[in-house]
Amino acid sequence: MHYHLILTQRCNLNCTYCGQDVDLNVMSENMEFSVEQLQAFVDRHDEPPVIAFYGGEPVLELNKIINIMEIVKAKEFVIQTNGTILNRIPKELLSKFHTILISIDGTEELTNYFRGDTTYDRALKGGQFARQAGFEGDLVARMSVTTRSDIFEQVMHLVRCKKLDFNHVHWQLDAMWDIPENDRIEEFRKWVDNSYNPGITKLIDTWIDHMEKGELLGIAPFLGITHSLLTDSKSPLRCGAGIDFFALTTDGEITACPIPPSLEFPTLGNVETSLPAELPNKLNIDGPCLSCDYLDICGGRCLYTNKTQYWGDEGFDLVCNTVKHLVDELRRILPRVKSVINSGKYEINEFQYPKMPNGVEVIP
Ligand code: SF4
Ligand code: SF4
Repeated sequence: MHYHLILTQRCNLNCTYCGQDVDLNVMSENMEFSVEQLQAFVDRHDEPPVIAFYGGEPVLELNKIINIMEIVKAKEFVIQTNGTILNRIPKELLSKFHTILISIDGTEELTNYFRGDTTYDRALKGGQFARQAGFEGDLVARMSVTTRSDIFEQVMHLVRCKKLDFNHVHWQLDAMWDIPENDRIEEFRKWVDNSYNPGITKLIDTWIDHMEKGELLGIAPFLGITHSLLTDSKSPLRCGAGIDFFALTTDGEITACPIPPSLEFPTLGNVETSLPAELPNKLNIDGPCLSCDYLDICGGRCLYTNKTQYWGDEGFDLVCNTVKHLVDELRRILPRVKSVINSGKYEINEFQYPKMPNGVEVIP
């Protein structure tokens, strides 16, 4: 099991994606239950779960992080952070994280446009600090991709980032979170057709070219999907929301993913009384995904958007087309991937990503 632990709603940035607002109608500002209650909940698991610190910006609740890492017997700790204040975390704790996910959108110009002046530099400095502190785990660049993004340019910028050696790059599309204006879907459609899908093709061609030359670029969606294609395995919802991945709100309520506390998603339980075995499979992917030919490989992409469908049928199809294009293009190069593997350059398990749930959803 894997839990996103929402330590606070507060954030030191004010990104256009989510802003800085604390909404007390949604949940308390900061974590209200005790570390001992968290440990008691962890103790009810057959195997210790992975705990990922999440916010807002979780580092703003540094004392809680320190306390939890000292007391709670998690399988691993992960942190999803904007990176800018990572240097506040004591070095000996930084080195203990399994994965650090840093929110960054690509180039300095694009990142600062959405996340504020100097954010790019500060995020990279945070990552550098973690590395210098001895963090040798998985450093993931987590991008939000909007219609301003050239996916090829932005992903390759982070893959080739000279200032910070990210192990993996992952992205999520800025789509279906909002109730769109009329023009929004049309603009998105044009971007998908003229920019995003062609950019994915170019990125996949570049990925296989590098692979053949002996360099496996850590582009998370390509790795995870290709591993499923190579092993001919069916994938459930890849983020695991509602299956083996849940969020703990600041009030100790348990939900299927960290987004829904702001919406009408049902609460599945609470830290105080719930038994972990009772949580899974109360909320499942349904609707158009159930009759989709790509379900076994896509997994349904996102439980939240599957349920909310804010962009209607047309918008949902549009985003699905990006998934189908991505899968089709990875299928196109699969013979070349197999040939690289047969030549002995790589083992199939090097494509498995993530090996342990770490908050990377794989399907953008
Ligand atoms: S491609 Fe779309 S419809 Fe098909 S499984 Fe994925 S999210 Fe569902
Ligand atoms: S992909 Fe969707 S359901 Fe899964 S964690 Fe992200 S927002 Fe939640």
